[in-house]
Amino acid sequence: VTVDPDLIVIGGGAGGITAAQAATRGGARVLLVQDGPIGGDCTFTGCVPSKALLAAAARGDGFDQAMDHVRASVVRIATTEDDDAMARQGISVRHGRARLLGDGVVDVDGTRLRAPRIILATGAGPAIPPIDGIDPARLLTNETLFELRVQPVSLAILGGGPIGCEMAQAFARLGTQVTVIEAMDRLLPRDDPRAASVVEAALASDGVEVVTAARVQRVEHLDGAVCIHLENGSSIRADQLLVATGRRPSTEGLGLDHAGVELDDGGFIRTEDTLATTAPGIWAIGDVTGRLAFTHAAAAMALVASTNALSKRARIRPQRFDTSAIPRVTFTDPEVATVGMSETEAAERGGRVATVPFEALDRAITAGRTEGYLDLIVGPRRLLGDAGGGRVLGATVVGPRAGELINEVALAIRTRCFAGRLAQTVHAYPTWSMAIQLAAAQLFFEIDGRGARPASTHQP
Ligand SMILES: Cc1cc2nc3c(=O)[nH]c(=O)nc-3n(C[C@H](O)[C@H](O)[C@H](O)COP(=O)(O)OP(=O)(O)OC[C@H]3O[C@@H](n4cnc5c(N)ncnc54)[C@H](O)[C@@H]3O)c2cc1C
Repeated sequence: VTVDPDLIVIGGGAGGITAAQAATRGGARVLLVQDGPIGGDCTFTGCVPSKALLAAAARGDGFDQAMDHVRASVVRIATTEDDDAMARQGISVRHGRARLLGDGVVDVDGTRLRAPRIILATGAGPAIPPIDGIDPARLLTNETLFELRVQPVSLAILGGGPIGCEMAQAFARLGTQVTVIEAMDRLLPRDDPRAASVVEAALASDGVEVVTAARVQRVEHLDGAVCIHLENGSSIRADQLLVATGRRPSTEGLGLDHAGVELDDGGFIRTEDTLATTAPGIWAIGDVTGRLAFTHAAAAMALVASTNALSKRARIRPQRFDTSAIPRVTFTDPEVATVGMSETEAAERGGRVATVPFEALDRAITAGRTEGYLDLIVGPRRLLGDAGGGRVLGATVVGPRAGELINEVALAIRTRCFAGRLAQTVHAYPTWSMAIQLAAAQLFFEIDGRGARPASTHQP
């Protein structure tokens, strides 16, 4: 283990790994402290198993085969970031639970380590809502779901956000009878209502029962089953209950008080846009900050924090974490992908929206998948206004490969290019990405009666 490290990174998940790698590349001596295997949520209980399960279910695997694929995918990715892999990259790993003691001192299961700089990347875990009768030991979360050995005949899922929707579809396709229970009046409450209704229809056609505007009154754990009683008097009975109602930051026992690291009202670590915490010499990244809870966002935060922690130049001009070009994807089929500003946000800046319904997209027609759409959101440039199409501010895409398409829009935002460049770029025919070119062209002229409309705070 590195003696006298320049930087201690606490938490070896997506954020911590990237921070350790970036700092090591920059010449710093880094110690990574992790209380389990390196990889964290994403590799073991998040992105990797969930995407593997979705893929296996989509190709028609049975439950056992699908779970084998999940385990094999996790192992394969985990070995690319295990202790040996870290060692090859010059990163020291210490396994144990870290606790801050103040003044740059970190206790790891009784051993005291010290570094002038610390990055906190402890992530988040499932939040169990305080419902009458609910027993955390008798339900499933993302931490136990992928360990199931027996396929549930029926599964109730509490929460219709991205994780709830993805797992509902995967299990329904594997042949489980799935009911999603959502408190809001629709699925994916944080997304465009049109996107949510496409996903709702897709889940319905996979046989998922969706109950929205549902207030859970009480959960009753029975022998080998669970009964969810709603306030309206109805109840849902299932073999298993999966709770996917949100995330709770992992800050317990971390000694934040000792070190002067403050939390915000939601219990997340309070950070500046520079990712500095309220304690000098300590930065925080990833899910524990309550900022964008994605692996690639944690990695982006890691680059900002490690630069700010270690570069002399950053002490004068620190980098800031900028979310304006970070995509967000829900991997249902069809996928829902967004980046940058929503239409409502763009409305305040005199933005415009060009929509391509996939009924008008040749690739979607040939694929027999015309249920999605693309909204390209643009806004005026300083001095130049809408010349050249203005600049790209955001997009929402709903479709089979939306998660791939969205990265082109992210590049356009990141490089601040004229939106017209997207129209001028020849896209291969017939691809899903052509929707981006079509939408950009609609900023200049009408195609089949479709142009661009002013962004509105009240969407159609
Ligand atoms: C079911 C599910 C699916 C998801 N799918 C996607 C997806 O498709 N794409 C995507 O981008 N994101 C996805 N996410 C989100 C993604 O997993 C997280 O955003 C990401 O893992 C956050 O990384 P992190 O480094 O902040 O935390 P984590 O990956 O949680 O890593 C933190 C690590 O720190 C350790 N730790 C905590 N406290 C201490 C301590 N005191 N001492 C030592 N170690 C400690 C924890 O054990 C943990 O392993 C998904 C999440 C879930 C739950």
